[in-house]
Amino acid sequence: MGFSMRTSDVVVIGAGQAGLSAIHHLLRRGLRPLADAAPGERTFVVLDAEDGPGGAWRHRWDSLTMATVNGIRELPGMPEVEAVPAEPSHHAVPAYFADFERLHDAPIERPVRVTRVENDPETATDPWPRLLVHSVSADGSETPLAVIRTRALLNATGTWTRPFLPAYPGAGQFRGRQLHTAQYVSAREFAGQRVGIIGGGISALGFLQEIAEVGETFWYTRREPEFLDQEFTLEHGREVIAGVVERVEQGLPVKSVVAATGLVWTPALREARARGILERRPMFTRITPHGVIEADGTETELDALLWATGFRHELRHLTALNLRTEHGGIRLDGTAAADDPRVHLLGYGPSASTIGANRAGRAAVNDVMRAFDAGRPDPPGHRDSDSSHRPGRAEPARLLTTTARA
Ligand SMILES: Cc1cc2nc3c(=O)[nH]c(=O)nc-3n(C[C@H](O)[C@H](O)[C@H](O)COP(=O)(O)OP(=O)(O)OC[C@H]3O[C@@H](n4cnc5c(N)ncnc54)[C@H](O)[C@@H]3O)c2cc1C
Repeated sequence: MGFSMRTSDVVVIGAGQAGLSAIHHLLRRGLRPLADAAPGERTFVVLDAEDGPGGAWRHRWDSLTMATVNGIRELPGMPEVEAVPAEPSHHAVPAYFADFERLHDAPIERPVRVTRVENDPETATDPWPRLLVHSVSADGSETPLAVIRTRALLNATGTWTRPFLPAYPGAGQFRGRQLHTAQYVSAREFAGQRVGIIGGGISALGFLQEIAEVGETFWYTRREPEFLDQEFTLEHGREVIAGVVERVEQGLPVKSVVAATGLVWTPALREARARGILERRPMFTRITPHGVIEADGTETELDALLWATGFRHELRHLTALNLRTEHGGIRLDGTAAADDPRVHLLGYGPSASTIGANRAGRAAVNDVMRAFDAGRPDPPGHRDSDSSHRPGRAEPARLLTTTARA
């Protein structure tokens, strides 16, 4: 395919919940997959780096079952995920996404990784300058694929490929095992071991509970974790989302929702507390070859360090568009980048949950269609922000707040 060029009205990057929601709404609004389109029809292309359906759910660990996930919203136009509670989410959700793809005959090109999106110099002076989407085959060959010229980019690349590992002195000398949430498979790997678990989010709490069954755990967090005393209500969910929306509207870096909401006491967590598993230690000051130096200066020997320190949004391929503000975030207006309305971020900030991803897909497609009809990218202040980010009346509270799980 080399250096040939394709042209499509819309390019969707990523086929997780957000990308599939976008596909649903693009098809409903009459766009056609580029490969099947007749002349004059509006077209879209979907590129996804995975080998098959499921987005990041393909990689979740064994014990993250349909019973232990926070709650997965059904895809638009689909019934709920049907699975027995004990089924690992990395089976059930990819199978469900595969059903969606079959039902829609969804034209997803994979495994294809987008490496760079840039402004098209040839259309720079047009009323609607185009974007160029560069990609490679993600089958290990890294073969460059045809560049796609497009009017609108729906970016739905999630966070799984950007694990966040804070730098700590001595990390390189540790002789035990170090891993991040993204590499965790099962507690069985830690049988009989002394494991330091770092992070104050939901994933860290899950790891503590399951590894404590087979080994000894040591929990480290930078701040005292904040547990909510009362049940998480819809009202609280709304407030949290509103706070995240406010941050992205100002172009501030997106905060983990746990940092905004606090953690909720579940019966299992109360039991873990009673068993002494949730005794939190202040963050260690240094890592040694055999363990860590605690805040009080003593050394604790450890076999493994499990960093449950969260993820960042995967946006590296958008660097050339210079979307970041001086604060380090991307300013959004609805789902669109306020500084470049050709680019929409789905599953970013307030829409980084399955329910948010659904809404963002719909809102972004509505915006794009309005812009196509007007013949120019939407000016700021005209977006479908209400439907993209704000929780509806009937939404279960727990579905609203799964952003940036650690
Ligand atoms: C451990 C964990 C548990 C979670 N549990 C829940 C839960 O129970 N309920 C809930 O609502 N939310 C949960 N979340 C949040 C959840 O990830 C999101 O809600 C949602 O599933 C994300 O969908 P997405 O489409 O934005 O991203 P993803 O599912 O991550 O999909 C992104 C897709 O983009 C592809 N991609 C990335 N970069 C590129 C590129 N450069 N080129 C091409 N393709 C690319 C990826 O390969 C992937 O297929 C959880 C998150 C984590 C980390």
